[in-house]
Amino acid sequence: MNIAKSEALFAAAQELMPGGVNSPVRAFRGVGGVPRFLDHGQGAQIWDADGNRYIDYVLSWGPLILGHAHPQVVAAIQGAAARGASFGAPTAVEVEMAQAIIDLVPSIDMVRFVNSGTEATMSALRLARAFTGRDKVIKFSGCYHGHADMFLVHAGSGVATLGLPDSPGVTAATAADTLTAAYNDLDEVRALFAAHPNQVAAVIVEPIAANMGFVLPKPGFLHGLQELCWNEGALFIMDEVMTGFRADLGGAQVLWGLEPDITCLGKVIGGGLPVGAYAGKRAIMQMVAPAGPVYQAGTLSGNPLAMTAGLTTLRLLAQPGVFEAASAAAARLVQGIEALAHDHNILIQAGVVGTMFGFYFLKEGARVIDDYASARQAADAARYSRFFHAMLEQGVYFAPSQFEAAFASTAHTPDVIDATLDAVQHVFSRLS
Ligand SMILES: *Cc1c(COP(=O)(O)O)cnc(C)c1O
Repeated sequence: MNIAKSEALFAAAQELMPGGVNSPVRAFRGVGGVPRFLDHGQGAQIWDADGNRYIDYVLSWGPLILGHAHPQVVAAIQGAAARGASFGAPTAVEVEMAQAIIDLVPSIDMVRFVNSGTEATMSALRLARAFTGRDKVIKFSGCYHGHADMFLVHAGSGVATLGLPDSPGVTAATAADTLTAAYNDLDEVRALFAAHPNQVAAVIVEPIAANMGFVLPKPGFLHGLQELCWNEGALFIMDEVMTGFRADLGGAQVLWGLEPDITCLGKVIGGGLPVGAYAGKRAIMQMVAPAGPVYQAGTLSGNPLAMTAGLTTLRLLAQPGVFEAASAAAARLVQGIEALAHDHNILIQAGVVGTMFGFYFLKEGARVIDDYASARQAADAARYSRFFHAMLEQGVYFAPSQFEAAFASTAHTPDVIDATLDAVQHVFSRLS
């Protein structure tokens, strides 16, 4: 495979931007080698700067649930751009977009739009602290909630991929207010509440831990958290930046019958443009300025291009059968991968919920992965990296790290899944 242009671009980029990228995992450090510089995408496929074509299961890390350059999304963005890229004043599409989200997610009465998932979670925590008058937050090891200081403690995503300890630059005082428990361990959460009585403002959780690979919540874990929060006077924050409109049309909370006080959103709601949102119950959201005293603002927040792209995406996704088709594609791919792994005596642990999925290659004799410690211990990163590069050669682009999830879109039609499974079969039959 000729990647001369990507190589030249990467060499130039490394002189100009830290690590040659604007977000760490893109640099391929989790798997080695040269990151592909991408040129364009269409449906389920992407093309790199050298003209190589790949079936894409990264989909911009989740947002592109309709695939790349969906014609109606492109037309909607073009239409909005022609009317003006930004006003810094309210627009009608924000009202429509807020309504669309509220219609799909029953726990949400009100929404505030921001520009990224990071902004959503950091603002949600400020709000939870203001609402409860408490300082501390409980998060889970290996869960990723964006790169704000108070969440860069035992974080997932790039922090996990690079095997970093907590980030320098986060003050000890900030880290001290972040308490961490193991994912799926309610007893640890109970102990943290007991050790810090009336001090915990919120528990924040990824309903599927999909920034340390793909770890499902055990039965009762999320409901147990919700109940603990309510008994302890803390807020239950579900970070659905990734699972929102992906685990289910209404997110993991609708799928599993949860009722978070605050929900964080991002990714899909921007349709590929930069958007985040935090949302929740009216009494809480009314504390946000200018309705209330909790300050939070943004020059480009509610940007009409981003709102239009997101609204068009949500409306298309909510049409009968559309979400189901993308989910069926993900399910069939995962079943196929599991069957092929079995045929080739390759140990994997796979999972799929709605349109998102993931799989670990396991070391010999590994125990089941159900939290970050077991993921680090049991996942065979070297084997994943061999698999990843062999799949690239076959024209299939998975995430360049075993500690990231994978995504399907409505453009992943049965023939795309068949082609992917053919490639997996080819790679598994030679995988050392
Ligand atoms: C991606 C992600 C974020 C951060 O969103 P950005 O838009 O990258 O800032 C937060 N939480 C979860 C669960 C995510 O997957």
